[in-house]
Amino acid sequence: MKYAVVGYSGRMGKEVIETFSGAGHELVVKVDENGVEESGIPDVVIDFSRPEALKTTVELCKKYSAGLVIGTTALSEEDFELLRDLSKSVPVVQSFNFSIGINVLMKILPQLSKLLEDWDVEIIEMHHRFKKDAPSGTAILLKDSLSKDVPTHSIRIGGIPGDHVIVFGNLGETVEIKHHAISRKVFAIGALKAAQFIMNHRKPNFYTFSQIIEGRL
Ligand code: NAD
Repeated sequence: MKYAVVGYSGRMGKEVIETFSGAGHELVVKVDENGVEESGIPDVVIDFSRPEALKTTVELCKKYSAGLVIGTTALSEEDFELLRDLSKSVPVVQSFNFSIGINVLMKILPQLSKLLEDWDVEIIEMHHRFKKDAPSGTAILLKDSLSKDVPTHSIRIGGIPGDHVIVFGNLGETVEIKHHAISRKVFAIGALKAAQFIMNHRKPNFYTFSQIIEGRL
């Protein structure tokens, strides 16, 4: 496939290029805060950047009728409106976390939350010192799957790609569920899976990464 990367000079952008080009795909459009470089027609746009780039991303998708894989966090409700509108004309896959582990966790957390109904529950998330948003998009996803307003603690330290712990506790015991991203590559591999899904399906719609890996489509 031919692909575009929004945020190509960032930490995730570099991982995406290594993963996609390593799998034989061709980078034809590069976007970052310094501008847009176009050398071909992309089938898919991959966006791991900042919410401020979203308008450029949407314009590119419309210009080339390209599908979108977007992992950028801190998106507002207005941003989601833009994405839902775009998904009427091209396929859009959005997730605040493109790892398999977190998406599986989101599936089992509602059951745990029900089984441990009267227990306290809190989320701790740890990321590298450069991360701009807090709480993380993943913490928001985990909170949503617990279906209650859970206190969230954000730690910004060193070079951690992304750690999340969900702690349940009553007066006598605690249960901890932990996810540790060993490297950012895991998110780029997930984005590649999502882009391949777009290439195979091509049907305009709004998809989550969970739907794709569960094969519910
Ligand atoms: P980074 O700061 O290293 O890179 C950001 C990139 O976006 C840079 O290339 C920068 O030039 C570009 N950018 C900034 N403003 C822009 C604008 N207005 N227009 C165009 N480009 C612009 O950040 P990062 O660590 O690579 O993370 C990028 C995003 O991906 C963040 O939102 C992060 O939370 C998210 N993320 C998502 C997942 C996931 O699985 N969904 C995983 C990791 C990171």
